[in-house]
Order: sequence, then structure tokens, then C-alpha cells
Amino acid sequence: MPINAIQTVKSTMPARPDHEFRTPDDMEAIAVCTRPNADAMDSLCHFLASVAPEYRTVQDWPDRSLQACAAAGVFRWFLPTSCGGFGWSESDQVLGYLRLAAADLTTTFVITQLIGACKRIASSENSIPRERYLDALLAGEKFATVGISHLTTSSQHLGAPILRATLDGDGYRLDGMSPWVTGAAAADLIVIAATLDNGRELLAAVPTSTAGVTCGTGTELVALSASRTDRVMLANVRVEPDMLLAGPVNGVMRVGVGAGTGGLQTSTLAAGLSRAAVDYLIRESKKRVDLVEIAQQLDQQVHSLCRSLVDAAGGVSCDAGALRGQANRLVMRTTQAAMTAAKGAGYVDSHPVGRWCREALFFLVWSCPLPVAHEHLCELAGIE
Ligand SMILES: Cc1cc2nc3c(=O)[nH]c(=O)nc-3n(C[C@H](O)[C@H](O)[C@H](O)COP(=O)(O)OP(=O)(O)OC[C@H]3O[C@@H](n4cnc5c(N)ncnc54)[C@H](O)[C@@H]3O)c2cc1C
Repeated sequence: MPINAIQTVKSTMPARPDHEFRTPDDMEAIAVCTRPNADAMDSLCHFLASVAPEYRTVQDWPDRSLQACAAAGVFRWFLPTSCGGFGWSESDQVLGYLRLAAADLTTTFVITQLIGACKRIASSENSIPRERYLDALLAGEKFATVGISHLTTSSQHLGAPILRATLDGDGYRLDGMSPWVTGAAAADLIVIAATLDNGRELLAAVPTSTAGVTCGTGTELVALSASRTDRVMLANVRVEPDMLLAGPVNGVMRVGVGAGTGGLQTSTLAAGLSRAAVDYLIRESKKRVDLVEIAQQLDQQVHSLCRSLVDAAGGVSCDAGALRGQANRLVMRTTQAAMTAAKGAGYVDSHPVGRWCREALFFLVWSCPLPVAHEHLCELAGIE
């Protein structure tokens, strides 16, 4: 991957001070982004960065930014041309996510969940959900999300599945809850996982209008509250055969693509947020000589991580867990360096560095593999 492609990740933030962003009144100017380093990408990311400070509470679902991304074709980057996507390579997808995350983590995170759902729908052997929903999802006319973490990283210590599936004629019934579903209240469709009594698991595309589905309206979080993440309750929800995406099988999350865990995506978003923090340090260093070396060092480290992520996406063998640990450490260091450099002014709520520091904490918990979390705890405790 050419280095200049990675360097374009830097240009997300405009040069004027962050608190002086103006919000464009219309999205007419948003053009389709066909390549990660296209000019259209700069306009899109400038727009996203300019409205990002508005997304603060569960009332602030980032609809404008999602619509801008739909208009720019962002949702199509991640899917093959046979499904209406642009068929971007894995490396280009990483470059795209790096740009978006540096501009606005909330919107980018919401997009990862939408794309997780779309990939599962697109790759399913059952073509009906694909025919029914995919065009509208990629056009931004409908929204889908995923509820799968109860099979992977959430509630594992409870010893029993919290969302159960039982056979019901030619379909299934779902009972229980999915504890974390981003954008549940805004979703038309949830790709949801459930476990049968025999331990096998299934994945289904469940419309939120289905009888027995109750979506929480969103929980106020440390950051990313506008993602309207909440639990979804399912009471005797009927899954018709045409809603089934995969399974029942052992380890349904290991079958097919999308909506999985342990991939490069979480690390990529952490690297993107690190880029936003380091770009701030670079801008400050133009007028503060004591920051020059610090900004350069961190810039180099973010650059190196971005390159590793792009290489890994391009097929270079890597330890995804090690990259995640590296990304987590870097996002904490860069955002806290930005806060330290911004001093008391940075501690004022309207300054972006506070938001970035809060957002960085998200990577300690989001889909964080157990060994990565354990290593981090040992580091914090000073255990070698
Ligand atoms: C903002 C946000 C958005 C998310 N969006 C989505 C989404 O759209 N889709 C999705 O599928 N997932 C989503 N997730 C879920 C995420 O990927 C992780 O699965 C989740 O953060 C794991 O946290 P948990 O509290 O559920 O973990 P748990 O492991 O369930 O821990 C919860 C609590 O249980 C106790 N506990 C934990 N381990 C043990 C143990 N071994 N023994 C005893 N007690 C224990 C502790 O008190 C702990 O605080 C989201 C998470 C967040 C924070």
C-alpha cells in the first residue's frame, strides 16, 4: 500500500481551531467517494468533523451524517459489486474507516454496526433478506444493526445463554435479550444471534416491527451516547425460515463474514481517533515549539500503526490481538497527550480533546478480546 495513501488520513481536520467549525447547511456538495484518497473524501470528512460535536446525548442520533455517508456511497465501500457495493479491497476499507473515524467516531462506529449487518445479509445462503433489504440499507433508506456480543464478549460468565432459540415448526422462537445493540431504536432490522438448548447457534435478520421485539431507546454512556446503544428484549419472537441467515451450527460467528469479533476494524477506529488527537497536537505545535518533538513522535507511531493495519488487511500475516493492544495503548496516549497540551482550555466541555479522551475509553470495552483486556490490566497493575 503506498505510503501517501496512508498519509491522506492526516488531512481530515481543517486548519482552523476546532471550536470554530461551521456547519454546512446542505449536503449538495457531498460527492460520491470512489477511492479512499479521492477529493470527495476530504469534503465528506470535513462535513463529518464539523457536525460531530453536536452528537452528545441519546437524543442526537447522527442522521445527517449517516445521510451524508449514504450520499457519498460509504456503505457501498464494504460490499462486493455483485451486491451493489463498490467492492473496495480490505486495505482500502481500512483506509476509509481511518478517515471516517478521525472525523467522527460516533457516526463511524454506527456505520461499523450497519456494515456488520449488511455483510451477514449479503453473504447468507438465504437470498431473501438480501433481496428484501440490501438495496435500501446501502442507499441509507433503512438502517440495520447487530446484536451478537452475547455469543462472544458479553455475559460469558453467566454460564447460560441470555437469548435462547427454540424450534417452532419450520422456524424458531426467540426469548431473552441482546444486551448491547447500537442504534436499536433507529433500526428497521437487527441481525441477531441466539442459542438453542443443544448449544447450536443461529443468526437471523429480525425486523424491529416483529411482534415481541422491544428496543431500548438508548443509554447515556461515557461517550458515543448518540449511537443510541441499548438492550433489545425478545419475547416469544417468531423467526420465519426466510429470516434465517445462518445456522443452527456450532460457533455461528465463525461461519461467513461480517458482524464478527477479533478483526482489525476496532483497532482501525482506535487508530483513526488517535489520528484526530495527533493532528490537533501538530496544529498546536506550529505555535508551540515544545510540542514539536512530541507531535512528531506520536505522528510517527500513528502512521506506523495505520500502515500495519493496512498491511494486515492486505494479507500480511499479523497478530490481530497484538495490534488491538497496540491500538488501545496508542489511543489512550494520544488523546491524553492532546488533553495535556490543551491544558485547562481542553478540560472545558466544548473543546474536542475531552470528547476524544472519553471516546478513547470505549476501546477498553468494545469487543475487546479477553487476553487483550487481561494484558492491559496487568500493565496497569505493574505485573510483568
Ligand atoms: C457503546 C457500546 C456499543 C456496543 N454495540 C454493540 C452492538 O451494536 N452489537 C453488539 O453485538 N455488541 C455491542 N457492544 C458490546 C461489546 O462489543 C461488548 O460485548 C461489551 O462491551 C462487553 O461488556 P459487558 O458489560 O456486556 O461484559 P460482561 O462480561 O457481561 O461484564 C458485565 C459485568 O459482569 C461481571 N463479570 C464479568 N466477567 C465476570 C466473571 N468472569 N465472573 C463474574 N462476574 C463477571 C462484571 O461485574 C462486569 O461489569 C457494544 C458495547 C458498547 C459499550
